[in-house]
Amino acid sequence: MKQERIAILTDLDPMSNAGANLVGFQYAMAAQRDFEIEFWTSVCVDADLKPQNSYENIKIRRFLHSKRFGDFPKKGIKAKTIRELFSPFPIIWITQQIKRFKPQLIWVHQIGNVFPLTSFLVCRILKIPALFTLHDFGVLVPRKLFPKDLNLENVDLSPFALGVNFPPVKLRLQNGSHSKFYLFRYSIIRLILSSVYLISISSLQHQILTANKLNLFAKIENGVGRCNCDAEQITRLDAILFAGRLNGKGLEHAVETVAKSKGLSLHLAGGQELFEIAKRKIESERITYHGQLSHAEVCLLLHQVKFTSVMSDCFDVYPSILLEALAHGSAPICYPTVGNANLVHEIDRSLVVKFGETIDDVNLDRLNSDAKLSSKVFEVGKTLKSFDKASEEYYGLIKRILKSKEQNF
Ligand SMILES: [Zn+2]
Repeated sequence: MKQERIAILTDLDPMSNAGANLVGFQYAMAAQRDFEIEFWTSVCVDADLKPQNSYENIKIRRFLHSKRFGDFPKKGIKAKTIRELFSPFPIIWITQQIKRFKPQLIWVHQIGNVFPLTSFLVCRILKIPALFTLHDFGVLVPRKLFPKDLNLENVDLSPFALGVNFPPVKLRLQNGSHSKFYLFRYSIIRLILSSVYLISISSLQHQILTANKLNLFAKIENGVGRCNCDAEQITRLDAILFAGRLNGKGLEHAVETVAKSKGLSLHLAGGQELFEIAKRKIESERITYHGQLSHAEVCLLLHQVKFTSVMSDCFDVYPSILLEALAHGSAPICYPTVGNANLVHEIDRSLVVKFGETIDDVNLDRLNSDAKLSSKVFEVGKTLKSFDKASEEYYGLIKRILKSKEQNF
């Protein structure tokens, strides 16, 4: 019998917001074999999702927020920070949910947009241990960590160095216009997180956060689902896929690569605005726009394209799309600032491009006509940690936390 109850919390609904929210839901699906799980998230009142339903046997509870509420972060960094720390209605909602479901542990994947970070204080007051998987650098700086915010002099960004023995990386906050405010914000957040079990998901992230004195409990790299697509073995298209949101993921680099290539086409999955922007630089005939796709549809698409663009504009901690591309045989083109660049380097070093640049024509032509490229990608894909393995690592941790809680109370 499943005795322990775990609530998994993410800011945004995983069905409409992939990335960390979806990773959280995948963990929920795996965890329900051993625990009684509820998935807590939020949704805008005018979306057509109900406050309560089930998906894949997981009970989902959604906090309803207004449109205005979601727009709030656009009002500037200070307003956003106040909201990410103090936001009364989500706090009341969380307190009610805890009292109703009585979880033994809360596992957070991403908060700060809708649910404030002070949700952790509620857990502390109610004596419920909280596990927080950090999917980005959001606790450190209130947005994506852009490379210019780091003191790069100390960092060896060659893919070989990622994850092994490179010096700590410090933020270069003192030069920024918000520097004092960032430091003030960070000191409050560190205080709030002092009683939380913090998990990093990549070596690079672990190093950066530790160098900035965040007390991390463990590092567990995300796993990736094995390819079990019903994909026919077809000849791959001479194409680059960009799947993701507009902000920070480097659409312009994908567009530029296609624009200067001989005969590559661009496949886009995501919001309509991706297509509008791409059309300004590339003839429409060379673009295939797929709209918003489900996770399974993206995986199928990864079987059709030779390349996948992962040239993110920020320090992208552990982009799922890169792992998915490797698992489904599409060669990623990425920057060394992407957390798993070392894996791409193993396929062909020219796939890892200098930050801000695009892959050079000679290498792109060579890779595009390499009939073995896809099988090389699959080889590296096979070495990836499975999602089940990552889940097991978490359960080991969760059982330890629950046991120490029993001893303490
Ligand atoms: Zn597949």
